[in-house]
Amino acid sequence: MLESRPMHCPFCNTDDTKVIDSRLVAEGDQVRRRRECLACHERFTTYEVAELLMPRIIKTDNSRVPFDEDKLRAGFNKALEKRPVSIESIDAAIHQIKHKLQATGEREIPSRMVGEQVMEQLRKLDQVAYVRFASVYRDFKDLDEFRAEIDKLQPDASK
Ligand SMILES: [Zn+2]
Repeated sequence: MLESRPMHCPFCNTDDTKVIDSRLVAEGDQVRRRRECLACHERFTTYEVAELLMPRIIKTDNSRVPFDEDKLRAGFNKALEKRPVSIESIDAAIHQIKHKLQATGEREIPSRMVGEQVMEQLRKLDQVAYVRFASVYRDFKDLDEFRAEIDKLQPDASK
């Protein structure tokens, strides 16, 4: 959702302005808004941080919490501990996840959806980290299930 906050008109300083147009810019990091002042009718453009657009997370107990980038990063760091993956790659993965969650256009999303996104990114970054994360996240019931997941990573290894 593109939520907007009250914004002061730079010409007459009233905060009675309306949004004429909103669009995501800078790869979804910012919202560019055209606004019109309802008092003096001047038009102006604002660039607002798109952090506002992160949907809230619905936890498994049905409570709602704000999206927590630090927690997401901590999850990546834990899975990638002592693995040959650069901070830049982790940053890019987190950026992609945020972008995808924003692109859903939903105001609230289940935490499961975030977990699935982390799995997808880890799978591309590092297979060991992926299996580490998946084994905790998916809570594999037995060794066969775990092995099946690893086999999926190496389609040619079974031949
Ligand atoms: Zn004005």
